Amino acid sequence: MMPEPHDSLFTTVGLVLKIAVPYPLRRSFDYLPPEGFDPARLRPGIRVEVPFGKHSTSCIGYLLGIGESETEGNVELKKAISVLDDEPLIPAGDFAILLWASRYYHHPLGEVIATAFPVLLRLGHPSAVEKERLLCLTETGRAASAQGGRAPRQIQLLQTLRERGSGFAAHELNALGWDWRPTARILIGKGIACYQEGPPAAQAQQAQPTAHPHLLNTAQQNAVDAVLEKLGGYQAFLLQGVTGSGKTEVYLRLVEKVLASGLQAMILVPEINLTPQLEDRFRARFAAPMAVFHSGLNETARCRAWLAMQRGEASLLLGTRSAVFTPLARPGLIILDEEHDTSFKQQESFRFSARDVAMMRARRLGIPVLMGSATPSLESLANVLRGRHTLLALPERTGVAVPPTFRIVDIRKQWLNEGLSPVLVTQIGQTLAQGAQVLLFLNRRGFAPTLICHACGWVAECKRCDARLVIHSAERRLRCHHCGNEQPLLRDCPNCQTADLRPLGLGTERVELALAKLFPKARTLRIDRDSTRRKGSLEGMLERIKAGEVDILLGTQMLAKGHHFPNVTLVGVLDMDGGLFSLDFRAEERTAQLIVQVAGRAGREKRPGLVLLQTRQPDHPLLRKLIREGYGAFATAALQERREAELPPYSHQALWRADANEAELPALLLTRLVELAAGQTEVLALGPVPAPMPRQAGRFRQQLLLQCTERKPLHELVEQLIRQLPGLPEAKRVRWSVDIDPVDLY
Ligand code: ADP
Ligand code: ZN
Ligand code: ZN
Repeated sequence: MMPEPHDSLFTTVGLVLKIAVPYPLRRSFDYLPPEGFDPARLRPGIRVEVPFGKHSTSCIGYLLGIGESETEGNVELKKAISVLDDEPLIPAGDFAILLWASRYYHHPLGEVIATAFPVLLRLGHPSAVEKERLLCLTETGRAASAQGGRAPRQIQLLQTLRERGSGFAAHELNALGWDWRPTARILIGKGIACYQEGPPAAQAQQAQPTAHPHLLNTAQQNAVDAVLEKLGGYQAFLLQGVTGSGKTEVYLRLVEKVLASGLQAMILVPEINLTPQLEDRFRARFAAPMAVFHSGLNETARCRAWLAMQRGEASLLLGTRSAVFTPLARPGLIILDEEHDTSFKQQESFRFSARDVAMMRARRLGIPVLMGSATPSLESLANVLRGRHTLLALPERTGVAVPPTFRIVDIRKQWLNEGLSPVLVTQIGQTLAQGAQVLLFLNRRGFAPTLICHACGWVAECKRCDARLVIHSAERRLRCHHCGNEQPLLRDCPNCQTADLRPLGLGTERVELALAKLFPKARTLRIDRDSTRRKGSLEGMLERIKAGEVDILLGTQMLAKGHHFPNVTLVGVLDMDGGLFSLDFRAEERTAQLIVQVAGRAGREKRPGLVLLQTRQPDHPLLRKLIREGYGAFATAALQERREAELPPYSHQALWRADANEAELPALLLTRLVELAAGQTEVLALGPVPAPMPRQAGRFRQQLLLQCTERKPLHELVEQLIRQLPGLPEAKRVRWSVDIDPVDLY
């Protein structure tokens, strides 16, 4: 008997493939399966190439399921072009998380699914294992001596190649930080090295671990035991440990156990610049194959890391926000370091919180999730109070390190030398004399935030934003930090033609110059987004700091996080006040976290640390509480305030942002939404109001905040408004987005 053609089911019964496409479209599309297709392969999540858009273009979509056609009228259904995967790359449980995320964040499903894949797979690359070209030593090379009058780079490359017999891929050798290829050619020419085809590096045996675990102190041991007891089931833990209390050591210990039981661990960190250090610490401890996933890597490397976890070839994933969707073949544990950090929230397009997605995933997968911080978010602390998270505390620094001493420096009516008070200058001098390092924190890059005319008061402003142009004196440019607009530094005032334009306010460049005059012998290193623009430059700087080649570190919040600088004993915060006066109700929480994090860089080893906080608000209640009683007491008070004001975490928010080329349109659109929302009484609609920066990059911006003590009515309202919005007359001319659980009102 002739077998039935496979696709008969589809044509005769009228069943079709429901496909989500990677565009901001809130619906799926119907397709017939490709010619001669095996329906057994139809599992949700597989990638399918389908014709899409005009001009017979195609795209990679994702199969949601099979269903009856909803395409209306006599429109002829198109056939899918090809099915790319034999089975879904994202397992069913994780696919369910994506469906949840699309509903929860009210974001189009096709884009949500695409986010979970690395770019190459999004573009339709096959997922089959490809061989890699690996550079390794030849027989001769293994026998040859490393030194033998060779050039330094040859020695370095040789030493690297000795570490792993199976060889190194190009993307790994790039970590050397210099162009290793010419050197490789020389070694190949001498018969010392050669290229071999091999399995991807993630599978390769790692170098032997070199670091030995510390003996855990009691608090660390308790934390480790508590999590170990829950392996194999869901539980969220909040590890609150003061800076330098050995949180990372707890992570390492847990990962060790998870790997020993044959499971995988995923460790998420907020910033790329924290990955190399943590990567080094993990590599030094584990022989297990490790995958690294962050936006600083090229697409091939990211795709490899993703697939290595998906197939179970790597046991350990270290990554940033976007890694949270990486499928795990043998899920064991999820760790989120610095859980309070807002970098875990994606701030454009699909605005997910990696912390919340991680919790959701852990719950579905039935594994524990551990969130660590010295300054936990009020959200997580509230979850501890509600009994949802288990609190694990590391109250003390390890070893002999003691907490730093805080001193508030009242700078009212004081003469400041480019932002530096006499007390701070004296302390810097003393610290340098003792051979220790100083860290100065100022969260503003550039020379000065304002250029003002001393004759007429004219101020240099961005033409496209409601913002001032920042002076960058080294490059002699004026730059807008919001739209990237820039122009040469002016000499004469465009308003009154007087040649008396002056910088107003402080930026890191300006303080750097002042320090050079005050401490001509000290080696100052400025670390901000400008000075670290070149790839790898931050790592180089961190190396120099560790090696003691720097006396004064001056920088923005890049310096505040995570770094362990053993020789820093003095931390100076030049200007605290900016953070205390903001429209955002989270400003105080952010400021407190930043202060504690910056202060945590001081006195991390034998010598005690001192932290000087310069402020014009020495009696600010938050500041006093934080300094006298610590972050815990501050957080308790702040939570109480939030509760009384019914603000998050005691209510839920959705922020509707709208912008347009025409000034009135965004408010018109948002006002219509308020009108549509008027029927219900539970959700509070606050606005529309102009965004904190009402005009940015030439577009006018408004926002509407929806707030409710219960989640359900809020989500129902958002859903309803999204459905009604396309019918509004302004909808086509206004760009809009919805941000669920916004962490930033900008
Ligand atoms: P955190 O992540 O909390 O800032 P780390 O894990 O980086 O702290 O630990 C700070 C320092 O203390 C590191 O140098 C680490 O090697 C060391 N350390 C951690 N745990 C112990 C321990 N139990 N005994 C001694 N030193 C430790
Ligand atoms: Zn002027
Ligand atoms: Zn601008």
